[in-house]
Amino acid sequence: MTDSLWQTKLAAWIHDPAEKALVLLRDPAGHEGGTVRKLRQQIFPDGIPAAVKQHIHPADRWAAAADRPQFPQDQDGGRYQKWTQVNFAEQPILKHPLTGEEYDLKKMELEPAQLKAISTDHFQRFIVRDNGAVDWKKTALAFWRFGPESPASDLGALWQLLPADTRVPDHTIWNHLDLTSAFASAFAGDPEHNPALLAMSFGPVQDFIAQARTTSDLWAGSHLLSRLAWEGLKVICEQLGPDAVIFPQLRGVPQVDLWLLKEVGLPEHYFDGADWLNRQTDANPLFAAALPNKLVAIVPAALGVELARQITDTVRAWVKEKAEATLTELLKAAGVTDAPDLYAHAQITAQLENFPEVHWALVPFAPLARETGQGVDVKELEAAQAPFRPVGDRGFLDGDAWKLLSREMTVDGARFYHPNPGVLYPALYDLLDRMQAAAKAVRPFPQLEQTGYRCSLCGEREWLTTDREQLALPPGERQERKTLWTSVAERKPSWARKGEHLCAPCALKRLWPSLFVREIEDLLDRDMRRYVVSTHTMALATSLWNWLQGHAGKTDIMDRDVGKLASQIEGATERAALPRKMADELRWGQYPAHVRRIAERLPAWLDTLREAEDSVDDDALQGVTGSIEKVLGQKPEAYYALIMLDGDKMGAWLSGDENYSLTYQDTWHPQIRAAIAGKFQQADLQSYAKAQRPVSPARHIAISSALNSFALHLAPYIVETVCKGKLIYAGGDDVLAMVSVDDLLPALALLRLAYSGVFPTGDAADHAWRLLGVDDGRLDIRKGHVRLRDRLYRVMGREATASAGAVVAHHSTPLGAVLRQLRDAEKQAKNRGDRDAFAIRVLKRSGGRVELVSRWFGGLDPAQGLESTPIGMLLRLQEALANPQLSRRVAYLAQTWLPQLPPPDEFSDPALYEKLLADNLAYQFARQCQGNDKPRANDLGRGLGKLAVALAASPTKPEEDRGAAPDFIRDFLAVAEFLAREGRADSGKEFNRHD
Ligand SMILES: [Zn+2]
Repeated sequence: MTDSLWQTKLAAWIHDPAEKALVLLRDPAGHEGGTVRKLRQQIFPDGIPAAVKQHIHPADRWAAAADRPQFPQDQDGGRYQKWTQVNFAEQPILKHPLTGEEYDLKKMELEPAQLKAISTDHFQRFIVRDNGAVDWKKTALAFWRFGPESPASDLGALWQLLPADTRVPDHTIWNHLDLTSAFASAFAGDPEHNPALLAMSFGPVQDFIAQARTTSDLWAGSHLLSRLAWEGLKVICEQLGPDAVIFPQLRGVPQVDLWLLKEVGLPEHYFDGADWLNRQTDANPLFAAALPNKLVAIVPAALGVELARQITDTVRAWVKEKAEATLTELLKAAGVTDAPDLYAHAQITAQLENFPEVHWALVPFAPLARETGQGVDVKELEAAQAPFRPVGDRGFLDGDAWKLLSREMTVDGARFYHPNPGVLYPALYDLLDRMQAAAKAVRPFPQLEQTGYRCSLCGEREWLTTDREQLALPPGERQERKTLWTSVAERKPSWARKGEHLCAPCALKRLWPSLFVREIEDLLDRDMRRYVVSTHTMALATSLWNWLQGHAGKTDIMDRDVGKLASQIEGATERAALPRKMADELRWGQYPAHVRRIAERLPAWLDTLREAEDSVDDDALQGVTGSIEKVLGQKPEAYYALIMLDGDKMGAWLSGDENYSLTYQDTWHPQIRAAIAGKFQQADLQSYAKAQRPVSPARHIAISSALNSFALHLAPYIVETVCKGKLIYAGGDDVLAMVSVDDLLPALALLRLAYSGVFPTGDAADHAWRLLGVDDGRLDIRKGHVRLRDRLYRVMGREATASAGAVVAHHSTPLGAVLRQLRDAEKQAKNRGDRDAFAIRVLKRSGGRVELVSRWFGGLDPAQGLESTPIGMLLRLQEALANPQLSRRVAYLAQTWLPQLPPPDEFSDPALYEKLLADNLAYQFARQCQGNDKPRANDLGRGLGKLAVALAASPTKPEEDRGAAPDFIRDFLAVAEFLAREGRADSGKEFNRHD
């Protein structure tokens, strides 16, 4: 794009100083005096060109209108009415954009002059010059990327959350600058100065990811889709800048930073200390799959169709290029000479012709919403949306918000509100959403004609072959006839297991880890060690951790058994990839070399032994197993867990459904709210204050930023630093993670709590951390915010919920089957649990299965404490059952006596039924408990009985799926009992400590 576009973006970026809110009322120079003037002088020494300037003011107005229709800045004389002034330095209050909760920053000590100096210095650092002249594009991108990074340690978290407007402190100055810049470039890029919303999605997602044989495949499927989404997003970033993308938010995404450094050419020192530049293992954030498969952007209307086409072509060409690179590698490995007429080339072309599937929709502002001078004309919008809505339903245009927003409003003779097309964002977004759904329903992609046997991973497409005839070979004959894949399997077993024959997309997925490592090595010019933790290692992590912590077995190197095991393992040269927490523990902890060697090599060694089972004689294997058990003090753990969590009702959050939006006054600073409530009896103003606030781009940015904080920072910390786990995918509102079985419950509970930014407070917080058993991994979570290290992340807030499915499986259970169960469990949590729920399934190797579906917190507020909530009860039961004083028989016995109880409908008074269950459980728990813990066991049993009755009474969808109280008791006990088995839970400590 031209210089003028980047100039426009840059001018938009400096139209307001970052510190505006803090100096607004204290600075005699006004907010446009200091930083803005200085930056303007340096960036535009001859003044901002008229062609650029014309777009800044309307863009600012549209952005402000979309985000805070009230309190326009352009009143006659530029003075605000006295009553609209907020002294933010005295009362620095932020509002959570999705809940309206107040977040008090405490009184601030910084003087305006000091702040301006800090801010000006900060931005000057990011002016990029080329031979003395300002590089418009680089500077605009550097401002976008690094402006919100805190310039001084005493400003801390405040800088990142600086409000755009102190009267409506629910969105940041960064949101406002991004949006102004996005509108400005959309105006500048269109001959009619007309912006449009563009939505795109890439697929298929679920099936592509779930077709996985190993955790490496699982990771590769997710990462490949995320990487591919970036190829599409990059088209927009290069032409219009990353701020044009509303969803997902791109600031701070490592893949985007890599682009800024390597392709845009921002100076390397801007990225000093970035994890993705330094980590040489796949703990490097570039290996995290972080971008969702859909996007929404503000683009010039005239460019929209062309952009959609370019993005489609780009992502498909990219996939094809990678598939060809895959084939090259496979041929090399198999020792086959490449030739243009090899059948595999034709297969790649055919199989990837429509891969990925792309759906898009484009909605321009004009002519749908046209500014007339008096207001906004929406006739065209009505006509355009009619085919996508039920007859007679005009959606946003029928609502109270539009009744108020469609006309001007004055207060005290001054203009309080004046409509412009920016306020129609909700209606345009709704139309976009409906158009895209309609496009998806059409499915214009024909089925490919396929012959012969199919790919062994997906079962859908032909497998890649150099010789078409071979497709007819039954699996048994392929070895003899030497296919491409039998050769690869011999020489490169990590690319193809014995017998495996893969199609183009599946082969690309299989080789993606190798291809991506090379891509990163070339870009960063350093070696990368790539690995994925296997399900077997993840299972063993539980035992190894217990052992390292001294909870079990013996680590004394003088011990004969330890010495023997260490020497047996000596020959195993391979080190297994360990979960990050364990790898860090071994790196920083004080462990003798013997112990370290056992921990690092045992998982790979066991794998080797298992694979060689046929050739090793049973006695030798038994001997080895015996010495492992002696050292670890228990049988090595064989189960691990997978978690799939995602946000509930994301569609409703994004469309601003009534239950998911705030009133205008909820988002106002308390001083403004009080002034309006007390001073004005004006009817339209009062109803305005109480009206539901429609969605806005800033609200979408707030949602998208909250999800980014969760996916990029909090979920990785919880899964990989607090727990022994491996994050496989975290992007948008979705998380897919593997954890060790002892960390399943804490990982689930923490992910859920961090998603909303809710945690018990005061004494209850200490209890909660102890109950979770991860006391040293504490996070500061409250009021929709999470503080991690020195950063404050704004997350979705207390009204937002998430549901999770979890599966506990034996490490040798086929992964495909486990993933199917996982997806079912997650659906079950959404449906039967009626959302805000979790579903845990334990798949026993023997074939049995136990499961529990429950709301996370029942009807209780988790801020008050976790202990009585369902997830808290499950944690307590797990602890109690791991305690040798309480016999695990209590769980089996319940299964025999529960069915003998009279059903609840035989009780005229429900309280009597509750008492019967609670008394019985209390009695059974106390009876099965030895020693001095009887009273506590009694309480636990009673609590479980009451909770089960409460859960059975809570609503479910569908109705008939409602569980009865005894079912809940049985399921809670069955799951807790399994998780409490030897070595899986930290036995006994917590049970004794709680009081
Ligand atoms: Zn396939």
